[in-house]
Amino acid sequence: MDVLPGGAVSINHVRSRFPFAPRSIWKGVPDSQWNDWHWQQRERVTTLEQLDQVVRLTDDERRAVVEADAQFHMGITPYYAALMDPEDPTCPVRLQSVPTMGELNFTAADLEDPLAEERDMPVPGITHRYPDRVLFYTTHNCPVYCRHCTRKRKVADPSSAAAKKQIEESLAYIELHTEIRDVVVSGGDPLSLSDDRLDYILGRLRAIPHVEIFRLGTRNLVTLPQRITDDLVQMLRKHQPVYVNTHFNHPRECTGEAFDAARRLADGGCVIGNQMVLLKGINDDPRTVKELNHRLLMMRIRPYYIYQCDLARGISHFRTPIETGRRIIRSLRGHTSGMAVPYFVVDAPNGGGKIPVNPDYVVRHEGKRWVLRNFAGKEFTYDEP
Ligand SMILES: *Cc1c(COP(=O)(O)O)cnc(C)c1O
Ligand code: SF4
Repeated sequence: MDVLPGGAVSINHVRSRFPFAPRSIWKGVPDSQWNDWHWQQRERVTTLEQLDQVVRLTDDERRAVVEADAQFHMGITPYYAALMDPEDPTCPVRLQSVPTMGELNFTAADLEDPLAEERDMPVPGITHRYPDRVLFYTTHNCPVYCRHCTRKRKVADPSSAAAKKQIEESLAYIELHTEIRDVVVSGGDPLSLSDDRLDYILGRLRAIPHVEIFRLGTRNLVTLPQRITDDLVQMLRKHQPVYVNTHFNHPRECTGEAFDAARRLADGGCVIGNQMVLLKGINDDPRTVKELNHRLLMMRIRPYYIYQCDLARGISHFRTPIETGRRIIRSLRGHTSGMAVPYFVVDAPNGGGKIPVNPDYVVRHEGKRWVLRNFAGKEFTYDEP
């Protein structure tokens, strides 16, 4: 293992397994622009005309791009758009970013605020559900509007942007509540904020004596890895310990660019976790999840949660049975590195919070006798002494 100037560690032997993303119609764009997150942000694909040049659209997609827009805008960075298979409408990147008519299929089970985040809101930018930690909404922008987003009701809606005043009131709430030791900085995507703005917010949090840690909930590693600049990482270094929870859903998203972004964060001391959402036709099979988690571990990203797709409106076409997730966990546990096995959770409707629904390995339990099943299906007895 080589140590590079500045103490960074070379992991090129692993890095070489992560090719850079293709560039599709942006082949002629110079590296200086392609690697500039402002350029990526500015050149986002937001119209049918633009999308038409990137992929061969199906009639369903063509209609949905126009008709679903009122529900939830389309926005795709050139980087993420270029990852799409132009010929295959079932491409996992495409399914996550290009609207389909399924989004307009509302069902009786759909909920406007599936996790009751608004109900547990003591002040407009905070959800306080668990005893010692809060969710803190800092912006409603994201580089890519994920079609399966659970916060569709707010994300991409400029009228709900977290204004300065709201952020101040949220910070005041956290200052006042001494039981809060962990702050999930979320949105939208907090990396949509400028470095200076984020520096200010994190600095304020760090100045609160009872706040021990915070986490940035961001999908930029997946949708806009160019955002993870050296300047950003330098700024984050000041506020350590910083946890970063990101959202990879498919091995196709684990590119060279994403690897380099994760490497910069990890070298900057950030601890990175992944929160995958189980999505029909995208990652609802054991092979895909195993490959994803193996690739994430090479990127120094630890699989943390798999979420059951929730009951938000317009995402019913992505939902899978809970048993699908349990089958996936069973296929991982014991069969591969324990570090590649996340918790499978249902974020319960009506504000129940995250509830684990992992497979059970206890066959029965009477008195001091526990009958257990191992990963290979064999039963073993443990008698408590
Ligand atoms: C997910 C979530 C958290 C963090 O939960 P962990 O299990 O600690 O990762 C905190 N608050 C709310 C409202 C959440 O939805
Ligand atoms: S990055 Fe997260 S908040 Fe933003 S659209 Fe995607 S799922 Fe929603």
